[in-house]
Amino acid sequence: MKIKKLEMVGFKSFVDRTIVHFDHDVMGIVGPNGCGKSNIVDAIRWCMGEQSAKHLRGRAMDDVIFAGSESRGPTGMAEVSLTFDARALGQDVSPGGVPWGAVGPEEVVVTRRLYRAGDSEYLLNGVPSRLRDVVEFFLGTGVGSKAYAIIEQGRIGFIVSSRPDDRRGLFDEAAGITKYKAKKRAAEVVLATTSSVKHSKRAAKKSPKNK
Ligand code: ATP
Repeated sequence: MKIKKLEMVGFKSFVDRTIVHFDHDVMGIVGPNGCGKSNIVDAIRWCMGEQSAKHLRGRAMDDVIFAGSESRGPTGMAEVSLTFDARALGQDVSPGGVPWGAVGPEEVVVTRRLYRAGDSEYLLNGVPSRLRDVVEFFLGTGVGSKAYAIIEQGRIGFIVSSRPDDRRGLFDEAAGITKYKAKKRAAEVVLATTSSVKHSKRAAKKSPKNK
């Protein structure tokens, strides 16, 4: 899946709306130390649903909101949007029940917002969505906060030295089966809940109190 555009506003050092167009197959971002190169990767990871502030090099999630500088006060909201070329998506990609693949729009825009008050929002092509929809959207595409599309400093070392079970997740993603495994887990949870409800209803019927 190809990223076409990244748009940031109020995110870390990008206080004003900043747009990065990914117009070429290979692109490099260069600049002096501390100018915000890694913040761009953080923005991509955050927009894809990253839930760990540590993985975004912060202590708390609201560390991603522009904290102010000598000349400007802090902002109240961070927003990042990622635009993907949707033509490469499978037809079965349907976050929120809407098929975004070949029959859908040519672009899918994923947006994440966080307000200093603590509220957060996810949007898929402008439609308010759940984190679950965003995560499902990325499953099996190789993109996503836990997939292999972002290989940052130390990641190779982590992959090589991680537990086989953790490493297997990357192979599952590359094989395109994480989506089905996630669906299976969700179905198992529903089954377990349904059978425990049935069991407690049966137990309640059998109870002498109810006879
Ligand atoms: P290096 O080349 O040293 O790795 P870099 O170009 O990758 O640096 P980043 O680590 O992306 O730079 O950016 C660091 C800068 O971002 C610092 O100046 C820091 O003050 C600023 N920054 C990080 N979070 C915020 C925030 N919430 N509000 C304002 N500025 C922030």
